[in-house]
Amino acid sequence: MKITDMHTHSTFSADGKSTLSDMVGAAKDMGLSFYGISEHFDTDSVSAAIFKPTDAPVYFSAARALQAEVCTRSFRFLAGGEFGFSREQAAQEQLLAICADFRPDFVVNSVHAVDGYDCYFPEYFAGKKKEEAYGAYLEMVRDSLDAPYPYDIVGHIGYVSRNAPYPVRKIRYEDFPDLYDDILKTIVRKGKILEVNTSARYAESEFLPDVDVLARYFELGGRFISFGSDAHATIRICEKRDLVIPALKKIGFQAIAVPVCGEIVLCDFD
Ligand SMILES: [Zn+2]
Ligand SMILES: [Zn+2]
Repeated sequence: MKITDMHTHSTFSADGKSTLSDMVGAAKDMGLSFYGISEHFDTDSVSAAIFKPTDAPVYFSAARALQAEVCTRSFRFLAGGEFGFSREQAAQEQLLAICADFRPDFVVNSVHAVDGYDCYFPEYFAGKKKEEAYGAYLEMVRDSLDAPYPYDIVGHIGYVSRNAPYPVRKIRYEDFPDLYDDILKTIVRKGKILEVNTSARYAESEFLPDVDVLARYFELGGRFISFGSDAHATIRICEKRDLVIPALKKIGFQAIAVPVCGEIVLCDFD
């Protein structure tokens, strides 16, 4: 069995709680085969005002040094980034420059900022009906798939529901079937990896996206699934993996896909 977690953050991210060496050391002690750090790179004007972006030169030089120290035949630590997609050209150019200058081992492409707000925060929802708030988010996810920079994993689809103020927060396939189909078919066509993210908190789902969306992805031919805890502290690495794997098996998936410097490695569940 190969255990993987490809979406985590250390204190190089503004909201990280454990240091890079502590995170990587904990993952190695837990027996992971592939462990990815994906520090935040939200370069758009909305997010940059809230979070101090990761200092790319300092992070990548520390990560490369640590890789030389800790990687073995059975433990691979990958230094990547979580890119916050934005339609702003300047933001996209900064992400392209990070790819050119530091060659991340993998990139998780995520949508955080929509319509001028991070859609985790209450301000985003003010005056918006659920359909409008969730629809605008999914439109942004669709646009993110055509990002001009290289990316491997499509991060936490459904993020908008994590902290939404509606009586029923769950974001469901059946409420946006055309939009979801467009997103999922595009992921399949481009050969990208769909992430299952277990940092769902109050989303009324144990993980994002939920099984309705995962089943539809499978039905449309999608086979590349990544596991990401989105841990910001050692204690949460691989959290809820024991819930995700049986759910994936039940749908029909047979492996977890790990992006390794442009290649996809498939890891059987057992
Ligand atoms: Zn994220
Ligand atoms: Zn994250």
